Amino acid sequence: MTTLNSKVPKGPLKDKWTTYKDKIDLVNPANKRNIDVIVVGTGLAGGSAAATLAELGYNVKAYCYQDSPRRAHSIAAQGGINASKNYMGDGDSDYRLFYDTVKGGDYRSREANVYRLAEVSGNIIDQCVAQGVPFARDYGGLLDNRSFGGVLVSRTFYAKGQTGQQLLLGAYSAMNRQIARGKIEMYNRHEMLDVVIVDGKARGIIVRNLITGEIERHSAHAVVIATGGYGNVYFLSTNAMGSNATAAWKIHKKGAYFANPCFTQIHPTCIPRSGDYQSKLTLMSESLRNDGRIWVPKNMDDVMAIRERKLKPVDIAEENRDYFLERRYPAFGNLVPRDVASRAAKERCDAGYGVNKTGEAVYLDFAAAFQRYGKEQAKIHGISNATNEKIIELGESIIKEKYGNLFQMYEKIIDENPYKTPMMIYPATHYTMGGVWVDYNLMTTVNGLYCIGEANFSDHGANRLGASALMQGLADGYFVLPYTIGDYLSDDIRTGKIPTNTPEFDEAEKEVKDRIDFFMNNKGSKSVDYFHKKLGKVMWDKVGMGRNEEGLKDAMAEIKEIREEFWKEVKVPGDKNEMNLELEKAGRVADFLELGELFAKDALDRNESCGGHFREESVELDGEQKGEAKRNDKDYAYVSAWEYKGKPGDAVLHKEQLEFKDIELKQRSYK
Ligand SMILES: Cc1cc2nc3c(=O)[nH]c(=O)nc-3n(C[C@H](O)[C@H](O)[C@H](O)COP(=O)(O)OP(=O)(O)OC[C@H]3O[C@@H](n4cnc5c(N)ncnc54)[C@H](O)[C@@H]3O)c2cc1C
Repeated sequence: MTTLNSKVPKGPLKDKWTTYKDKIDLVNPANKRNIDVIVVGTGLAGGSAAATLAELGYNVKAYCYQDSPRRAHSIAAQGGINASKNYMGDGDSDYRLFYDTVKGGDYRSREANVYRLAEVSGNIIDQCVAQGVPFARDYGGLLDNRSFGGVLVSRTFYAKGQTGQQLLLGAYSAMNRQIARGKIEMYNRHEMLDVVIVDGKARGIIVRNLITGEIERHSAHAVVIATGGYGNVYFLSTNAMGSNATAAWKIHKKGAYFANPCFTQIHPTCIPRSGDYQSKLTLMSESLRNDGRIWVPKNMDDVMAIRERKLKPVDIAEENRDYFLERRYPAFGNLVPRDVASRAAKERCDAGYGVNKTGEAVYLDFAAAFQRYGKEQAKIHGISNATNEKIIELGESIIKEKYGNLFQMYEKIIDENPYKTPMMIYPATHYTMGGVWVDYNLMTTVNGLYCIGEANFSDHGANRLGASALMQGLADGYFVLPYTIGDYLSDDIRTGKIPTNTPEFDEAEKEVKDRIDFFMNNKGSKSVDYFHKKLGKVMWDKVGMGRNEEGLKDAMAEIKEIREEFWKEVKVPGDKNEMNLELEKAGRVADFLELGELFAKDALDRNESCGGHFREESVELDGEQKGEAKRNDKDYAYVSAWEYKGKPGDAVLHKEQLEFKDIELKQRSYK
């Protein structure tokens, strides 16, 4: 059995990373040329890692299932990326970013990792600006910042509502330079289907060429998994349709522990579901909560009239609106963290105040911002006695500049003009804080097997603050892994090429081929999506925003049943030696069906409410915090790291006890 050792360096928090870097073993430039590294996934985490490792001199082989790294799910990131630059002079610092992140994650993350993240956050911005990423700038040409949930400063750098796309272009250009030099071999349209372990070390992967169907063996001295999150276990989520857990799950089955699988983020501002035939949900960025106010009507008569379309939201007078976040959380208002905002919206909708047909929607309203910005603009432009129409027009132009593409996206999907009527929003699955367990070096419990970006569990605890995922992915790829992996690879300078004609590769390849053959030969009658939707419904109803013991036990049993039916009844059309999207999906859903059960098991084990994990049994019963989530530090201040034992339900729990030496464990209050 592997022993959990977080390998956090000794010494004061502020010196750990610097001292560590001073002491680790290095690989000299000539030796780097003899070392191969596999990077699976070329989103922001994998793309930045691949580019940096190649720039350092390693031979990199990189893989993605899309036709280009440009299409990784990272491209969808809208709102921004955090860094403690304190450009706004509003009191930000590394410590404050660290503090906000640990508190925002409800004290379920590792202090040393989060402090390091804060320390390197500023470097990310410098790196990306040097690459030409067009971050928003203020009137004087300096980089602009806005605020995101759960913090009292403005530290979010952004490029309109397309920050992920611009950052990905930066990482992609850095990769392309290395592809052109021959230092990165890029395998587009290749899906990793297993890892190969030789003498306890990760030494290669088995991939399927998604165009020809060919199964290939690739070897290296170390393997890095950067394959993103597993939010699509819910079927409906804001993730890209292809986002999946396969690589993470395969390495879990080969010895990598899976940490905190139940820590999922349900994002408060998504376009509500419109019906049963939908396969994707759309995010409206959290940045909108800088200027948008969230409300539902105070009176049930108004709710009914709105649902029956007898009344428009703009007709409801101010005094008849319940700005429930501002009411409940005056200190943070509309910018409370996502878990808090989502639960508050659900509470209002469960109480019957939802404003659409299904009763699952609240308003996000910009009318006050139009007025505020409009009056300011009228002053700036010397327009005295501006009419209300003129003020609104001026205000709208500022909002358009800040979030124009998001407003356009909303209008295209809902067919309503959000400048004229408030947006409707509802929480949806968005991000997974859980993932593969890694130590301080970002190494999993398998030697030489690393995991970075959303695929690992690392820095966000039980709830991720907005704009922190891009920060973590790029910190891992540009600034952390390139150091820590060198320490490991320094032992491999004399190893030579890793052969692929060995029994370990034979065995892994056979497993992959057998599974594909099973899918092609199974004469089932039901589509892959049939099972995925069924799984998603169980996950949302019983392992979603509210969880309880009975529901979680039912969920485990039901997921097992769906899985058994899947293996009997799944039907995969087409051929294995061609591009076959149903075959790809079948493999991914098979893995979700196992991960889902472990997810529910983890949620059942954690009988406390923390961050996005809300156990209905664990709620504050009185005092100022009445009705809020109740954490239990005495019994649950640990990372759950699950070891695979043949079936997801039999997984064995290992606990990494979390120590808080530089931050006081407190009840999280945003009031
Ligand atoms: C709509 C939306 C908006 C967001 N906005 C923000 C934001 O404003 N700020 C913020 O900080 N975060 C945001 N996030 C979160 C953030 O975008 C993601 O957490 C982050 O981009 C994940 O990056 P990644 O590199 O870890 O994974 P991804 O970008 O998902 O990349 C995964 C890569 O792995 C590859 N891959 C996967 N499986 C395999 C396999 N088996 N074999 C080969 N390749 C594989 C894929 O091809 C891809 O290249 C947002 C998320 C969503 C859904």
